[in-house]
Amino acid sequence: MRPHLSRLLATAAAVVVPLAGGLVRLVVPLGCAGCGAVDVVLCGVCRDALGSGALRVDGAAPRLVQLPAGGAQASTAAQAAAGDGLVSRWPVLACAVGSGTVRTVVVSWKDRGRTDCTGVLGARLREGARSGVALVPVESLVGREVWVVPVPSTRPAVRRRGREHTVELARAATEVFRASWSTAAPVRLVPALVHSRRRTADQSGLGARARWRNLAGALRVRRAAQTATSGPAACVLVDDVLTTGATLAECARALHAAGHEVVLGLVLAATPTPTPTTPTSPHAPSPHSLLVHSDPGTG
Ligand SMILES: [Zn+2]
Repeated sequence: MRPHLSRLLATAAAVVVPLAGGLVRLVVPLGCAGCGAVDVVLCGVCRDALGSGALRVDGAAPRLVQLPAGGAQASTAAQAAAGDGLVSRWPVLACAVGSGTVRTVVVSWKDRGRTDCTGVLGARLREGARSGVALVPVESLVGREVWVVPVPSTRPAVRRRGREHTVELARAATEVFRASWSTAAPVRLVPALVHSRRRTADQSGLGARARWRNLAGALRVRRAAQTATSGPAACVLVDDVLTTGATLAECARALHAAGHEVVLGLVLAATPTPTPTTPTSPHAPSPHSLLVHSDPGTG
């Protein structure tokens, strides 16, 4: 193709493609992110499917009940994988069970450009955060900073989505924790974790073992976060979906290795795991047990 012709075609494409996008928006009206019902961001039925309150789910996530109990000194992936005397050390709350409509809504928001659901999902996460406040003894936070830490996506996933969506969730959660804990400890949103240079695949589509192998040692604490803090932080991990717990476990390993402690995990949705595990700690609840409903009058 002659150079000037290809330039002409490229210019035409640059004009036509955005126009076509606008036309598609005009012809195909906004639909419910859960069921496609027209002219609403999220219809009443799909909104109801997101439920209320929070579920305690760490007892149902096999990679969390195997977390090392000894903190930083027992924090290598190999030790965690060995599974000796390992129990979940911190509670994880999910706002909903991530199947059916909930799954569709979360995937639409996360991967299909439905950023107009951020408000609804953020409100739902704030509700879960209010439930989480009750699970962390406030006296355990005194003298430390509280970091609300979004679980980082891989760099290719961030490029594909054009945003780090878990930061949006962490922002909502931070508002609640700050309102509840600021008299005991300063509360900050800190994107402390980053994928190390080693290439990791996107977790979606991988089985439980593959997720664990893919992530072991994959995360590290950013140097900027480490130098900006005065000492060990109490961390709340925030993610969109919990499946096996491999991601949260790797986040905790990286934070513990840097001297910090995870005190709570909070996710939008927990996907039921096909092989339920027996809780190994008296503090670990039965899988997906309904533990807490937030008090709408607080926070
Ligand atoms: Zn709907």
